[in-house]
Amino acid sequence: MNKKLPLFFSKAMSSDKCLSLVWLRRDLRLHDHAALHFALKESGVIQPVFIFDREILARFTNPKDRRLSFLAQVMLDLDSALRTRGGGLLLLYGPASEVMPKLVQALGAKRVVAAADIEGPTRTRDQTVAKALEGIASFHGVKDCWLMHAPEVTKSDGSPYHVFTPYSKVWRSRITPEDLAERKVEDKERYANVEHLRTSAVAAGLRVLDLNKGLAALLEQIGYAPADLREWPADAGHERLERFAEQRLSAYANDRNLMAEDGTSCLSPYLRHGLVSVRECARRAWDHPGAEAWINELIWRDFYAMILYHYPQSAHTEFNPKYRDVLNWRQSDEDFARWCQGHTGYPVVDAAMRQLRETGWMHNRARMIVASFLTKHLRLDWRLGEEFFAQHLMDYDLASNAGGWQWASSTGTDAQPYFRIFNPIAQGERFDPNGEYVRRYVPELINIPAGKVHQPWGYNAARDYPKPMVEHTQARAAALHMFKQIA
Ligand SMILES: Cc1cc2nc3c(=O)[nH]c(=O)nc-3n(C[C@H](O)[C@H](O)[C@H](O)COP(=O)(O)OP(=O)(O)OC[C@H]3O[C@@H](n4cnc5c(N)ncnc54)[C@H](O)[C@@H]3O)c2cc1C
Repeated sequence: MNKKLPLFFSKAMSSDKCLSLVWLRRDLRLHDHAALHFALKESGVIQPVFIFDREILARFTNPKDRRLSFLAQVMLDLDSALRTRGGGLLLLYGPASEVMPKLVQALGAKRVVAAADIEGPTRTRDQTVAKALEGIASFHGVKDCWLMHAPEVTKSDGSPYHVFTPYSKVWRSRITPEDLAERKVEDKERYANVEHLRTSAVAAGLRVLDLNKGLAALLEQIGYAPADLREWPADAGHERLERFAEQRLSAYANDRNLMAEDGTSCLSPYLRHGLVSVRECARRAWDHPGAEAWINELIWRDFYAMILYHYPQSAHTEFNPKYRDVLNWRQSDEDFARWCQGHTGYPVVDAAMRQLRETGWMHNRARMIVASFLTKHLRLDWRLGEEFFAQHLMDYDLASNAGGWQWASSTGTDAQPYFRIFNPIAQGERFDPNGEYVRRYVPELINIPAGKVHQPWGYNAARDYPKPMVEHTQARAAALHMFKQIA
C-alpha cells in the first residue's frame, strides 16, 4: 500500500459542534463526495455552498453560453436534491476570494472543506481564502477530482514525470483500493437551516441568488440567458456512464477513433464538473474486460493535471523550452476565421469545427486533427486554438486542453513529434470511412457518395463547398521548415 501524502492544505480543527461549509466547485454532486464525506465525519451541521465567481465569469463573453445554462441547471438540481434531504443550496455571486471569508464570518462557520484544485489561479485563490480565515476557521482541501493527485506520482527523487508511459506505470503501481473507494455521504439530519443562513448572508451584504424562480430567472441574476441544453441534460451523467459501461466499454479500444460512432463515453462535461465522480467511473471499469484503454484515458487526465500543477506556466507557454517563444507562427485573422467557421475546404476539419460550434463537444480524434491542421497546415499559434476551444467546449478544462493543444502542436510534454503531420484527407478516410461524420455536420456534402466525401472538390454536388484553403504537400513542407529552423 502506498503511504499517502498529506492533503493539499489542512489545519488543526476543533471538534466542537459547529457549522462546516462545503464549498462545491468541480464536485457538483451529492454522492461519492470527498468534501461532504470529510465534513460529515466531524460533529455539527453542514452547509453546501457554491459561488458564481465574478472573476471567472468575466471570461464567459457569450450571453447565451451553454456552460452557464448547464451550471445553473445543476444548481437548481442540487438545491432540490438537498431539500429532499432536509437542507438546501446556498448560492452566491461575487469574487469568491472575498465572498468566502465574509460568508464564514457572517455565519460563524468553523471550517470550510473543498475539493483541492490544480489550476494555478484557483490554488492562489484558495491560499488567499485560507489565509483570510486564519484564526477564524480551518480550510481543508481534500482529494476528489482526480484519481491520483500530482504529488502522489513522482519519480523516486520526488521530481515530476514528463513522459506519459513511465508515469502511467508508476500510477498503476501506486493506486490503491482506497483511492477508488466511495466517499460515502451519510447526511441524514446533518444540514443547517439554509433559510437562516441565507438571511445572515444577505444581512452581511453578500449577494445570495434566488433559486426559486427557475432557470431563466437564475441566469438573469448573473447576467446570462438560457441556451439549448438538449445535447447535455444536466442529470444525464449516470445514465451515460451506465450505458457506456454496459454497451460500449468492451469495444472502446477498437471504436474510440471512429468519429461517426458512439464509441467513446461522452462523459467529459460530467467529469469536468464532477457530476459523476471519477472514482465511480474507475470502479465501474476496473475489472471490466477490455477496459484497459479507457482507464488509460483517465490516467491521461491525471497526467495533464499533474503537469499543470507542477508547471502552471505550461497553460500559456510552450512546455518544451526548445520551442518557447521562438516558433515563427504566421498571423492571419482571415485564415483563423475560416478554421473557426469550419470553412477550410477539408471536410473532416470542417465537420469537426461545426460539431464544436453546434454541440459544444468534439470527438477526440477530431480534436487532434483540427489542432494539427491549425498549427501545422496553417502555422497559426496553438494558443489561438486553445482559446477558441476554451470558449466553446462543454468539457473545457485548462489542463487537458493546454495539454492536448501542446501535444498536437509538438510543443508539449511527451508531444507528437513535429514531423508527424496529419493528412486531413487520409485521417478522414481512415476514421470516417463512410463519410457519415462529415455528412452529419457539412450539409453541402450531403449528396456526395461515401468514397468521395473526403475529396469532394470538382463534383457538381459539392459546388457550394470551398476548395482547400492550403494544399497538403506544400503546407506540410512549410511546417517542417518552420520547426527545422529551430536547431
Ligand atoms: C486539442 C485537444 C484539446 C482537448 N481539450 C480537452 C478539454 O478541454 N477537456 C477535456 O476533458 N478533454 C480535452 N481533450 C481530451 C479529449 O479529447 C476529451 O477528454 C475526450 O474527447 C472527451 O470525450 P469522452 O468523454 O467521450 O472521452 P472518453 O474517450 O470516453 O474518455 C473518458 C474520459 O477520460 C478523459 N480523457 C479522455 N481522453 C483524454 C485526453 N487525451 N486527455 C485528458 N483526458 C482525457 C476525459 O475526462 C474523458 O471524459 C482534448 C484533446 C485534444 C487533442
